[in-house]
Amino acid sequence: MAISISAPIIEEEEIQAVTRVLRSGMLAAGRKTQELERLFADFCETKYAVAVSSGTAALHASVHALGISHGDEVITSPFSFAASANAILMEGANVVFADIREDDFCIDPQKIEAKITNKTKAILPVDLFGQLVDTECIRNIARGHTLRTIEDACQSVGAERNGIKAGSVGDVGCFSFYATKNVISGEGGMITTNDADIAERCRRFRHHGQSEHTRYEYWELGYNYRTTDICAAIALEQLKKIERFTTARIENAKHLTEGLRDIPGIILPTIHQNSTHVFHQYTIRVTEECKRTRDELVNHLRAHNIGVGIYYPKPLHLHPHFARQGYEKGDFPVAEKLATEVLSLPVHPSLTDQDIEVVLNTTREYAQ
Ligand SMILES: *Cc1c(COP(=O)(O)O)cnc(C)c1O
Repeated sequence: MAISISAPIIEEEEIQAVTRVLRSGMLAAGRKTQELERLFADFCETKYAVAVSSGTAALHASVHALGISHGDEVITSPFSFAASANAILMEGANVVFADIREDDFCIDPQKIEAKITNKTKAILPVDLFGQLVDTECIRNIARGHTLRTIEDACQSVGAERNGIKAGSVGDVGCFSFYATKNVISGEGGMITTNDADIAERCRRFRHHGQSEHTRYEYWELGYNYRTTDICAAIALEQLKKIERFTTARIENAKHLTEGLRDIPGIILPTIHQNSTHVFHQYTIRVTEECKRTRDELVNHLRAHNIGVGIYYPKPLHLHPHFARQGYEKGDFPVAEKLATEVLSLPVHPSLTDQDIEVVLNTTREYAQ
C-alpha cells in the first residue's frame, strides 16, 4: 500500500454536518460561517475572525485592509508558496525578499532590518511547515520601525511560540483550509485580528466592497471572496478535533526524529524553545555529507510507494515571475541552498505506526 504525503481525515461528523447544511437549503455563508468565525477567533485568542474562500483571499484581503498599495514595499520570505508574495503584488505594492534561517526555514529577522526603506509598509512572515517565526523579534522590528505585520499562518494553525498563538503574532493572521492543510474544508481561509477596523475592511473586501450593515452600498473595490456554509460546516467539525490531529502529527514527528537521528548528512527539523511545532510538514535536509543526494533519496522513496514532497524546489525569486522584479541567482544564498536540500516525509495524522516504520526503514537502509 502506498503511503501518501498528505491525507484528509473526513469522519462521520463532517459528513453529517454537510448533510445538515444541504438539507437546510441555506448553502451560502450564514449561520455555520458565523459559528466557525467565533470558534476560530477564540481558538487563536483574537477578537475577530473573518472567513474567506481561501488562504490566498485571506492574504489579499489583509494586504488591502492595511492600506498597502502602489509604491509601498512589503518584506517577505523567498522560501514559501507563491501566494504569500503574490498577495502583495495584487494590491500593486512591491515584494522585497529577505533571506531565511537555516534552522527553521523562516524569514531571518536579522536580515529584515537591512531591507527596510522609507517605502516599507509591512512585513509578511510565513510560519513555514507549522512553526512560528520568532514572535519577539518580529514584534520588536515592527514596533521599532512602525511597520504593520501580516502573518501567513496558512501552515501553522494551532502552533504557539512564547505563549503567542498562530494568527495573533501581528496585526493580522491568515489561514488556509485547503485539502492538504492541518484543518481543511476543501478550499477555504480565515483572517484573524484584534482590530475592529481591519476586520470590517476584510468583511467588505470579501463582499464586493459592501458593508455587512448596508447592502447595495459599495464603499470600495471588493471581490467575491466569501465562503459557503458547506465549507464552514466541515471546518467547524475539523476545528473541534484539532487537538487530536495536532497531537498525532507531533507524535509522528517524534518517531521520525528518533528513527532518523545519527544518519550522517541528514539534518532533522529544529524545534525552538517555548515553541509548539504543529508539523504541517516534517522537513529534513539532505546535505552534501549524506551518502545519497536529495534527489536520489526522493526517487528511492517514491519507488517504494512513499509519498514525499519537496517544499520548495526553487525559491520564489528565481522564478521568471519574481525574477522580473529584478532578482537573480545569488541574492538569497540560504534559500537557494536549502531548496536543493529539503525533503518532506509523511507526518500526517492518518499514518499508522507501521507506515512510519516503513518510512524509517526505507530511508535508513538507503541513506545510512
Ligand atoms: C496553502 C498556502 C497558502 C495559500 O492558501 P490557499 O488556501 O491554497 O489559497 C498561502 N501561504 C502558504 C504558506 C500556504 O501554505
